[in-house]
Amino acid sequence: MLRRKENIVMFPFMAQGHIIPFLALALQLEQIKKYTVTIVNTPLNINKLRSTIPINCSIHLLEIPFDCSGYGLPPGTENTDSIPNHLIANLLRASLSLKPSFRKLIYDLVKEQNGHPPLCIITDIFFGWCSEIAHEFGAFHAIFSGSGGFGIACHYYLWLNLPHQMKNSDEFTVPDFPEASKIHETQLAENLRVVNGSDLYSVFLQNVLPEWMNSDGILLNTVEELDRVGLEYFRLKIGKPVWSIGPVLLSKRSQDQAATTTELCENWLDTKPVNSVLYISFGSQNAISAPHMMELAVALEASGKNFIWVVRPPIGFDINMEFKATEWLPEGFEERMKDSKRGLLVHKWAPQVEILSHKSISAFLSHGGWNSIIESLSHGVPLIGWPMAGEQFYNVMLLEEQIGVCVEVARGKSCEVRHEDILKKIMLVMDETEKAKEMRKKALEARDMIMDAVKDFKGSSVKAMDEFLNAALLRQEEAMRQVIH
Ligand code: UDP
Repeated sequence: MLRRKENIVMFPFMAQGHIIPFLALALQLEQIKKYTVTIVNTPLNINKLRSTIPINCSIHLLEIPFDCSGYGLPPGTENTDSIPNHLIANLLRASLSLKPSFRKLIYDLVKEQNGHPPLCIITDIFFGWCSEIAHEFGAFHAIFSGSGGFGIACHYYLWLNLPHQMKNSDEFTVPDFPEASKIHETQLAENLRVVNGSDLYSVFLQNVLPEWMNSDGILLNTVEELDRVGLEYFRLKIGKPVWSIGPVLLSKRSQDQAATTTELCENWLDTKPVNSVLYISFGSQNAISAPHMMELAVALEASGKNFIWVVRPPIGFDINMEFKATEWLPEGFEERMKDSKRGLLVHKWAPQVEILSHKSISAFLSHGGWNSIIESLSHGVPLIGWPMAGEQFYNVMLLEEQIGVCVEVARGKSCEVRHEDILKKIMLVMDETEKAKEMRKKALEARDMIMDAVKDFKGSSVKAMDEFLNAALLRQEEAMRQVIH
């Protein structure tokens, strides 16, 4: 039924946490489904992608011109790498100016193909506005997000109902969604706590959410069996097809700077016993505060456990500046960890999937980004959650309350957290406690569920992907019939 070598155009938002799952999906569509895939992005991100994509793949990379001036962004900004979190709304607003260039780019592609439109245009959850352009050229449009069903369902409801729902309570109820019925004030993203709405909130409400309704459907990097409750709620509220096609993972990355880091981490992990190392990372763009960093370091040292920690300058410092261990960590910490071979500090970026797939890894202290979660569970690794922003709070809630593979250690960027509390959670998950055994068992069950979902022909994610592609193909056939008549 599926026709091969049709072109699929993909357009992620300019952030690593968005580009990575898009690239993983692009590789899947190109290598397994044999489509021609074109990824569109701004010149800087395309350049980065060029050095990231595996040598043997033939994904096309297409630059779209971008001018960030006039949006309060540092000159030359093209992605979230070099800006603080509060400027993400500005980047999002600036990205709306890409509409005419994107239309022109699709026009040129269609012309090149003798009037044949792409089979589908898959764009970021922030770029629902591309649906209008896709439809103009007779192409199917889908939104793709690296979020999970539960997280996006909670977040979607809150975006639509807050801050105007904020009354005198510190708990919020989500109607018809008993599993998420009580969301505590501390589980609200900062943008949702601003009573008259933050800048990001208004871009979302005006320019992002309404556009979802014009798309033909939503692809999520999740697994039906793991995330059914949230998916059902989201489908009910959005009234659109939602295909859970996960996990789409980049297994072996050829990150330019990461080749030596990968070797370093793998060699280090090879010297450690099975199930003995804690991996700590806060995702692609989050950092923790300087006091939190101190507390975490003290807890790690006191735990006596092995660890790999991806360190970045704390909140408030330029993320790209040099990491100052002498200022931000306890005195002599880095040397002691190095000498005792107990801890490996990786600066800025680590080969996460390779680390999580190593048999020495026992648990993952994570900010609860959905990509990190799905990567962890794909390898049967339980988590310690420290959600920071957005839907991470609800991701951690799902993992802890429903799937049973996580304990939350702290919440947010400015919460009160003592090293004694962090230590307790580390010991609970890394020692041979009943809780640890139970979490590991459940994480392995989640891994099996994920493996089943991607089994040829019968896995739920494989079926969902085929359903989505068939829907796009059907649309194309209808469009062609209309042209003939
Ligand atoms: N990542 C990585 N190395 C790092 C930090 C992050 O490879 O040092 C990757 C990670 O594997 C995941 C993505 O960056 O694929 C982070 O996505 P997630 O949804 O977990 O969090 P976000 O960055 O969007 O907050």
